[in-house]
Amino acid sequence: MNRVASEQELAKAEAETRDLIEESRDADWKGRSFMKDIFLGNFKYEWISEQPEVAPSARFVEWAAKADAWFSANVDPIKIDATGEYGDDVIKGLTELGCFGMKIPAEYGGLGFSQVEYGLAMEMLGRYDASVLALLSAHQSIGVPQPVKLFGTDAQKKEFLPRCAAGAISAFALTEPQVGSDPGKLASSAVLDETGEYYILNGEKLWCTNGTICELMVVMARNPETKKISAFVVEANSPGITVKHRCHFMGLKALANGVILFKDVKVPVGNLLGKEGMGMRIALTTLNAGRLSIPSGTAGGARDVLKACREFASERVQWGAPVGKHEAVSHMLADMTAHTYAIESVARLSNELADRQGYDIRLEASAAKEFCTTRHWDLLDKGMQVRGGRGYEMESSLIARGEKPANIERAMRDARINRIFEGSSEIMHLFMAREALDKHLQVAGNAVKPGAGIGDMVGALPSMAGFYSWWYPSLWMGLTPFKYRSAGKLGSHLRFCDRAARRLARTVFHGMARYQAKLEKKQGFLFRAVEIANELYAIGACAARAQKMKKANHPDAKQAEELADLFARAARRRINDWFRDMWRNDDAFNYTEGVKMLEGGYSWLESDKI
Ligand SMILES: Cc1cc2nc3c(=O)[nH]c(=O)nc-3n(C[C@H](O)[C@H](O)[C@H](O)COP(=O)(O)OP(=O)(O)OC[C@H]3O[C@@H](n4cnc5c(N)ncnc54)[C@H](O)[C@@H]3O)c2cc1C
Repeated sequence: MNRVASEQELAKAEAETRDLIEESRDADWKGRSFMKDIFLGNFKYEWISEQPEVAPSARFVEWAAKADAWFSANVDPIKIDATGEYGDDVIKGLTELGCFGMKIPAEYGGLGFSQVEYGLAMEMLGRYDASVLALLSAHQSIGVPQPVKLFGTDAQKKEFLPRCAAGAISAFALTEPQVGSDPGKLASSAVLDETGEYYILNGEKLWCTNGTICELMVVMARNPETKKISAFVVEANSPGITVKHRCHFMGLKALANGVILFKDVKVPVGNLLGKEGMGMRIALTTLNAGRLSIPSGTAGGARDVLKACREFASERVQWGAPVGKHEAVSHMLADMTAHTYAIESVARLSNELADRQGYDIRLEASAAKEFCTTRHWDLLDKGMQVRGGRGYEMESSLIARGEKPANIERAMRDARINRIFEGSSEIMHLFMAREALDKHLQVAGNAVKPGAGIGDMVGALPSMAGFYSWWYPSLWMGLTPFKYRSAGKLGSHLRFCDRAARRLARTVFHGMARYQAKLEKKQGFLFRAVEIANELYAIGACAARAQKMKKANHPDAKQAEELADLFARAARRRINDWFRDMWRNDDAFNYTEGVKMLEGGYSWLESDKI
């Protein structure tokens, strides 16, 4: 009896989370989306290839040179890693460089960088220190500046943005002990007091980056009666706020991250962002562009590893040859080079699209986060293998015994979290799958939602017939062999993408027809669809960049074309594997076995068997 009750509760909780996310997502696509079209069978290469690469402003270039010199002289990543602290001098220097106001408009005292410029700054930081990158990214990509810029009133912008630009560090507090990937359970409360002048905030926030050193934070809390979630700007020194615990992690050692307690904290009503009930929407929208810092950071990090591996593999001789000349190692080096180019291309294109008017980048930002963090991790793993024991050894230990250090061991510790925070890999896949199915959900309506009945099916028939009668046959039309001829040797890869996008759209449609309302639970199927789309996006990004470089007579254009070719070959193999696995897989068996393991069916395996 109890078991049935708890399953019902779980089902209710799941439905509540789904409803909350549905309510909070942007229902309208405000502009084009290259990736959304991929899921509909259109590879709109011209959308990403026609505009020339956006060059950073002269003002940015000057700032970047100054920042680069300052980072190289003052940021010691080995010390930051060993002490677990940034040091006051680093924070002071970052403030003086204007780093806390990179994305804040000049009228509010910030540097007013575009997203492209901000991305380049994050690439630079990715080369220096991941803890510093996380500090700045948590502050301005998701902390107070971003939601205030997007949702704040004029008064809020005037009050908070100049402070943030001048170095008032901020934080973003959504996660709670029971709320990680599932915001439906958010328990922190905000209730209007009897005077109507303050919200009274209570709750506990977990893993709040910058939470132990910040001056301001954005806090998400819910009205216990209406259940609506709102977002507030909160002064961190308000009475009732305490840091319960400073958290320490595998990497990002200096992260000022903690468990923050709120006990009857008075928050002025003027600090409510947007309207009551908009909290989740604010959090999700903030994270849309906010999560682009991470891909840019991985691009800088990837370059650093590449350089270290090139130097090592050409100098280290074993078995009569530099290790890089042994085929197994050279294959790794080639793969790392292609993926560094791909990570950079995806991160840069995504930032560029975010700057462009008339684009909706929620899918591209998620794809960039997922693609770059996953490929960066693979790259680090290969980098460690290439450097052998010297990859595993700490930099300080290498220095102490007189060897040249390279940041692979620390980079691995620092990078692993990228696949977990700001939307874990699984949540990125789910989010993208939901957006990918959006058109179908609009057309088929309730017919493909969980609990759909025969009435829902019948009700949806007219709109389904109207859309699918022309859309589905169009997915079988071939393309002219002349398309993409101007792309030279990359043309065949782009033709592959064109065909693969149509195949992907057909496959997703077949999945819908086969699984109907159960499709939502078919994560194996949906996640592979997302992987394919991400790879197509990456091939497009690599090819478009190479072509733009060629058009601009860039001296490295030929090499870029070669790297785009190298990457596309590997990506196409992966895509073909995923297509095959969509229908021929062990998903059902794996699920049964996973549940069996969960319920203790294999617990005998966990004990010593001497
Ligand atoms: C170093 C660090 C810094 C952070 N900084 C901040 C911050 O500044 N502000 C903030 O609010 N939060 C922050 N977080 C929290 C971070 O965003 C969460 O860790 C993340 O959202 C995942 O939540 P969780 O760890 O509770 O995992 P859980 O939600 O407990 O998930 C566990 C695993 O299950 C998977 N999973 C969950 N649901 C599903 C599903 N429906 N389908 C498939 N798989 C699923 C997850 O992907 C994950 O692999 C930080 C965390 C860390 C470790």
